[in-house]
Amino acid sequence: MYNRTQNENGTYNTRCLYCLLTIATSVETDEDLQRLEAQHICPERALSELLAKESAIVAHASRN
Ligand SMILES: [Zn+2]
Repeated sequence: MYNRTQNENGTYNTRCLYCLLTIATSVETDEDLQRLEAQHICPERALSELLAKESAIVAHASRN
């Protein structure tokens, strides 16, 4: 999940919506945006996925 904004000169900024970190500024192409977003290793996202996985395990265990 990324929030992209466009600058007055037509370039883009992109920001991670999980940790609110600005990943890149003044990016010219969509390809570059996708590449830079893919390179972002998000600690907040990893944590939320881990918690989701753990709650799924707990939910499964309580059924038995
Ligand atoms: Zn992030």
